[in-house]
Amino acid sequence: MSTQFQFQTEVSQLLNIVVNSLYSNKEVFLRELISNSSDAIDKARVLSLTDKSVDEKQWEIRLNIDNDAKTLTISDNGIGMNLQDAKIALGTIAHSGTKAFMEKMAEGGDDNADLIGQFGVGFYASFMVADKVTVLSQRVPENGKISKAIKWESSLKEGAYSLVELDNPRTEGTEIILHLGDDNNEFLDAYTIKELVTRYSNFISYPIIMQEETVVPVDNTDTDTDTDTDSDTDDADTTEETTTEMKDVTLNSMQALWMKPKSEVTDEEYNQFYKQQTRDFLEPFKTIHYRAEGTNEFNAMLFIPSKVQLDIYYKDYKIGPTLYVRRVQIMENCEQLVPLHLRFVKGVVDSSDLPLNVSREILQSNKQVDMMRKSISKKILATLKSTLKNERDEYTKFYGEFGKVLKEGIHYDMERKEDVAALLLFESTATEPGNFTTLDEYIQRLPENKNNIHYITGQSRSQLQESPYIEELQSKGLEVIFATDDIDDMILRTLGEFKGKQLLSASDATPKTTNDDEDNKEQPNLSDDETNFVDFLKEALTDNVSDVIPSTRLRSYPSLLTNQGFAPDPHMQRILESMGQEYTPPKKGMEINMNHELVKKLQQLHAKDANSDDLKGYAQLLYDNAVVSEGGTLDNPGDYVKRVTNLMTKIL
Ligand code: ADP
Repeated sequence: MSTQFQFQTEVSQLLNIVVNSLYSNKEVFLRELISNSSDAIDKARVLSLTDKSVDEKQWEIRLNIDNDAKTLTISDNGIGMNLQDAKIALGTIAHSGTKAFMEKMAEGGDDNADLIGQFGVGFYASFMVADKVTVLSQRVPENGKISKAIKWESSLKEGAYSLVELDNPRTEGTEIILHLGDDNNEFLDAYTIKELVTRYSNFISYPIIMQEETVVPVDNTDTDTDTDTDSDTDDADTTEETTTEMKDVTLNSMQALWMKPKSEVTDEEYNQFYKQQTRDFLEPFKTIHYRAEGTNEFNAMLFIPSKVQLDIYYKDYKIGPTLYVRRVQIMENCEQLVPLHLRFVKGVVDSSDLPLNVSREILQSNKQVDMMRKSISKKILATLKSTLKNERDEYTKFYGEFGKVLKEGIHYDMERKEDVAALLLFESTATEPGNFTTLDEYIQRLPENKNNIHYITGQSRSQLQESPYIEELQSKGLEVIFATDDIDDMILRTLGEFKGKQLLSASDATPKTTNDDEDNKEQPNLSDDETNFVDFLKEALTDNVSDVIPSTRLRSYPSLLTNQGFAPDPHMQRILESMGQEYTPPKKGMEINMNHELVKKLQQLHAKDANSDDLKGYAQLLYDNAVVSEGGTLDNPGDYVKRVTNLMTKIL
């Protein structure tokens, strides 16, 4: 049987990145391996609760330096791996997060050191410091069934590793032996290792133990039995010979930092804890640490990261803080503890009241958990609110990272949608490019007696700035918000109003009734000829539009399409189509500008000769122009070009 295996292609790519690009951060390998050990112990510990064949033991992680062999060994007595486990775990990549990471790395550009922090390349980080890695492992029994111990080894040559089952069983758990490369002798230094453990792994909840040379007195109890009875023994008698001995030293504090009162935790400790828990390189944007008292007591230590995680839009993005019950870790990523739009929040929640054996199923319909989620959600929104108020620049940065996720809250959290809406930022006709307004600030700038918030959706400010839809609003001195995120159209329609002000999309048909009387304009009075002309357009364009209406707002443009009721704008339509949704939009209405030179001339032509051959073509052109003005795509661009070409040929 062959014992040589090829790494999955993606692993080879990842290893390339790890070895070549992340070199400046190589010390994180230790944090990654310790964290894997801690996960492995968590798993064994959970099994030991239900599977009788798995022993409960003194769980621990050990580090060992061998100066002669030039190896650093990380071992644990956790769950271990059998042959099959090792093939998958140490030869493939299963995580979408890591895949997203690799795509991003391949794009280059961004600071790659930040990236590894967001994902943690895990076990493969070993190769940042080791020329060769050996893994020895014994899986704990599964329902009494004992599997063979294994040895996995690779020096990355030819993208291959070796894997064999061993004849003799080993102590349960995993031992990872790093054969350090010549450049990496620093990791043979006990002091360096201790420092790295306290920096990166201080709050790991199992002891991280290293043997250390300690000075101890020479034991000579057999020679001085007589002095034992002498109560006057003085110091001179006890300062005898000493010797050195290897002793276990625990390097990490293992403290449940979140249980301490806020006043006793330093910023440094918070940052350290955050980095260790999330494997992020950057400090958190905000730390929220509080204790909820009352019938449902819990401690929460929550973090908002500084940078958005690349896989936050992936389906299997891990959501939610780690849940503890009275300091016992119950589960990582307890998604019931945060609403979806706050899924970027990390941290720890420790409940005093939940039962220890609580399962994911129970959590889904648990009143206490619902209350906890509400409390957490409220707290985070309050923190963001005060940041917006007191640290605008910082908030703007946060919003650039997480704004798109946050605004989903208007859709998901009907109860608090106005709180979420108050946190939105937009550019508008009143802001310089790159500067933002909130909806509250918009309202403050509203002229007296004005009660509507006007917005226009589209791809970019520069595209929207010249839009015919906002021409009239601008000429009246009304501010228009540029809503340029993909989901803005949906979000703002769901919101509907904010603090009693109606939100109006400029590309909708002018509403019949709004809060502002001045906006409710009478239809212009048309002459008979004009009415006939409008009827003619309706007839000619019956396949294209639902109605033709004389406009009350158009100035320099002859015609414009408007949404009739609830229909996605062209930008949203493209998104829906790209998602493969079968979608036939409802027909739009067309407004025409009866005062426009072109429309006047057409109307006169119609009055003179209602059956003119050219008229139908002109009507079609009016419609096509309107489609182009709203940023839509023509059904038949060829026809359009032909019509324009004919027209130009005729004139010239
Ligand atoms: P991740 O930790 O994100 O899953 P890694 O590359 O660090 O990714 O590890 C891959 C897998 O290897 C782990 O999910 C686990 O199954 C296995 N593994 C790594 N280290 C250990 C260990 N010390 N004990 C048991 N299994 C381990």
